[in-house]
Amino acid sequence: MFETVIGLEVHVQLNTKTKLFCSCATSFAQTQNSNTCPTCLALPGALPVVNKEAVIKAMRFGYAINADVNHVSHFDRKSYFYPDSPMAYQITQLYKAIVKNGELFIDSKEGKKRVTILQAHLEADAGKSIHEGVISKVDLNRAGTPLLEIVSGPDMRSADEAVEYLKQLHSLVRYLDISDANMQEGSFRCDVNVSIRPKGQKEFGTRVEIKNINSFRFVKQAIEYEVERQIEAYEDGVYDEEVWQETRLFDTVKGETKSMRGKEDSADYRYFPDPDLRPLIVSEGMIKEAKEIPELPAQKVERYINELKLKEYDAKVITAQKELAYYFEELISSGVEAKNATTWLINELLGRLNKLTLDITESPVSVPVLAALIGKIEDGTISGKGAKDVLDYMVKEEDFDIDAIIEKLGLKQVSDDGAILAIIDEILANNEDKVAEYKSGKEKLFGFFVGQVMKASRGSANPQKVNQLLKERLG
Ligand code: ADP
Ligand code: MG
Ligand code: ZN
Repeated sequence: MFETVIGLEVHVQLNTKTKLFCSCATSFAQTQNSNTCPTCLALPGALPVVNKEAVIKAMRFGYAINADVNHVSHFDRKSYFYPDSPMAYQITQLYKAIVKNGELFIDSKEGKKRVTILQAHLEADAGKSIHEGVISKVDLNRAGTPLLEIVSGPDMRSADEAVEYLKQLHSLVRYLDISDANMQEGSFRCDVNVSIRPKGQKEFGTRVEIKNINSFRFVKQAIEYEVERQIEAYEDGVYDEEVWQETRLFDTVKGETKSMRGKEDSADYRYFPDPDLRPLIVSEGMIKEAKEIPELPAQKVERYINELKLKEYDAKVITAQKELAYYFEELISSGVEAKNATTWLINELLGRLNKLTLDITESPVSVPVLAALIGKIEDGTISGKGAKDVLDYMVKEEDFDIDAIIEKLGLKQVSDDGAILAIIDEILANNEDKVAEYKSGKEKLFGFFVGQVMKASRGSANPQKVNQLLKERLG
């Protein structure tokens, strides 16, 4: 029996307005190499100046994960050459990072589990190489964009735990508004370190690093493939030959990892303190600003359970995504009752959006519209079933005039006593035998009468009214 050991390195692109060491914009420019200046082009003599906003965002992350935020940290040079990295080194933090020793809690099979975050450090991104046939071009618009590299301890024990950690982290950086964390666009990239060891063995096995995986699903697949490959090597007696410290890539088409290069040791990078940058000393003002942290998912879950009486499961679904939680909270502040807000958001609206592969941010139905629709059930204008029809109609037709839709689909409930009583009297008159049975004690028949009245009204009678008036009539 083997145990899997996983540690994750995540590169989060910070959503600052300008780059880490110069005032070039970070926005994706249409024109290649237009967001550049002497500093990010690495022209001789150009000097870096640290971006305060990036530092505050890194610190905010640190406070949110209960980490030590170093009031003094340092930048180091990591030397390597790539065509898209004109400095021939990357400015990063190796010896003294800004954030150390944090924690994140995840849901695992064994319950709540603590994952350590060894450190989070600031570093500059490289540019991009663009290969067009035999020609390769370099675009330096991204060169110098601020990244926060977040390094976990080797604490995960399965692919599912790794994915759960990534989801938590992804959600957290979005709540903190320090990154848009768009995985397709590369603003949330993960490197996965995987090893195995026989159960009971104390020492870790040899780790293999799988670089730059850009979806949760691929993370899971890559780990599962890699674990199997390593176990097989172990069982075949060729572990030392086949599993060595290297960097692999995940081929998403074949579902396999394959060797890319041997893993460099840090000595290979010739790290040394960057002589162009002085120690990074944070001010009281920056600390104060960094500590302004919005309500985070874990606190929201607790509040939803305690104050709004939600089930834990529902609270977690809603808080998994920042925009979903905000949508929910706006429903509540529009006066929708918590239970209705939960069902109509999760089951009804999300159900329909999922079918169209839309995200809550792309929902055609806005908060005020959904709140108004729920209001129509709460005041008895339409039934729950009727409201579902209206929602279907709205999503399909992108028409949001609720009153007109109710009219058009003939969904208005009859709540008028006179109209309902007329139907009741007719049904009772046509079923004298059953009325007699009911009166002699066969109370089950009540449901029969309700059903008949609803049927006769073609579903338009307000069921509460029907119940109440029937009870009165039957004595
Ligand atoms: P590097 O930058 O060289 O990849 P780091 O020390 O920054 O090295 O990152 C190492 C990552 O690998 C961390 O996330 C750590 O938890 C993880 N790790 C270390 N040892 C193992 C191991 N034996 N198995 C799995 N993951 C490991
Ligand atoms: Mg690393
Ligand atoms: Zn620049």
